[in-house]
Amino acid sequence: MNFYSLNNPNNLASFKEAVIAGIAPDKGLYFPEKITPLSKGFFENIDTYSNHEIAFKAIHQFVSSEIPDTFLKSILDNVLDFDFPVIEIEEGVATLELFHGPTMAFKDVGARFMANCLGYFSKNESNEVTVLVATSGDTGGAVANGFLGVEGVNVVILYPSGKVSDIQERQLTTLGQNIVAMEVEGTFDDCQKMVKTAFLDEEITATKKLTSANSINVARWLPQLFYFLFAYKQAKSKDKEIVFSIPSGNFGNVCAGMVAQKLGMPVKHFVAATNVNDVVPKFMQCGIYEPVPSIATISNAMDVGDPSNFVRIRKLYNNDFAVLKENLSSFSFSDEETKTAMKKLYNNSGYVADPHGAVGYLGLKTYQKLNPDTFGIFLETAHPVKFLATVEETLNISPKIPSQIQKVMGREKKSIKINSYEALKSYLKDP
Ligand SMILES: *Cc1c(COP(=O)(O)O)cnc(C)c1O
Repeated sequence: MNFYSLNNPNNLASFKEAVIAGIAPDKGLYFPEKITPLSKGFFENIDTYSNHEIAFKAIHQFVSSEIPDTFLKSILDNVLDFDFPVIEIEEGVATLELFHGPTMAFKDVGARFMANCLGYFSKNESNEVTVLVATSGDTGGAVANGFLGVEGVNVVILYPSGKVSDIQERQLTTLGQNIVAMEVEGTFDDCQKMVKTAFLDEEITATKKLTSANSINVARWLPQLFYFLFAYKQAKSKDKEIVFSIPSGNFGNVCAGMVAQKLGMPVKHFVAATNVNDVVPKFMQCGIYEPVPSIATISNAMDVGDPSNFVRIRKLYNNDFAVLKENLSSFSFSDEETKTAMKKLYNNSGYVADPHGAVGYLGLKTYQKLNPDTFGIFLETAHPVKFLATVEETLNISPKIPSQIQKVMGREKKSIKINSYEALKSYLKDP
């Protein structure tokens, strides 16, 4: 399977080339040349397949023969070794819990899948690959965990000093081996700017193979479509049309759901729920896309002012605004509304949601006001303890810390403090 750049359809790359490069040389995002639907029978009988079988059927056409089938199956065994339960918490409202992985954020699946693919492709290469990534919190831990010990791959994670939670910091600074954490005196936007500058810096790229590990990379983006298939498998028996509400930041997750739809999965509608960073909700109202600087919120993994995957979403619906509108609604919510939703969920159903999941819940309820006869699934993208301070303060409870998290709490933090791009550059040139 070839992928082409959304900046120029003549710029093609194989799956392997797209994974190693991350982004096309013309700075466009890679997009699959073709999406071939799976059979109707597959979706009718999806409950007779294991999650591993479903994932293999869904991802195989994108990877094609570039990774041997037996090896691809073993990658999926590694990646999908935890549950993805759909739990009904109100009549017609369910949560899809994506936080049962090693770092308790939904990014675990994409990060592990990408790490395994990159590990496979780097095995017989003499030139090591360096994964360079900026994080506002959740990406860093998932990437550090997914890439730990992968041969031929080094990882450098930049995070804003003092602006990630204690748990998140420990998840990305305590592993060692091939994982290096850089603590940047500045904001997440500063980290992101440094990463972007490094990718364009020929003094670095002349000798170092750099790639990114955010949802721009097809190997991190595409496996997220599994979630929607696993949810469909569990919700199919409800005999109602299914609506997914996805708390969105860079819009990689919702975009992967739309690929599942292209594969033939029956779904009535997608809702992309955002915090006050509302570029897409505004676009869906008036058709004008206007990126702005991001605003800090309590759902900080979604503080994005110019969502990178939105171009892919537009492409999936052939850049036709009317068709896009039939399939996607987008709503924005304030921190106050988010906290109120967390309280309502806890008081009415005993369900402890994290701020991101609560935004997803709000998006679903807004859509269901006009479309009540649907089965709605909102994605719970992080375990509430990942956002402990907000959850404790809003709900007046102290949730139990799960064992995955407890494991890192006692470990010693190791980071390199930097306060300029030059410091990053000199490290990358001579680690
Ligand atoms: C990354 C993240 C999101 C946003 O996902 P996108 O694919 O960037 O839209 C939502 N919630 C949590 C907890 C995240 O870590």
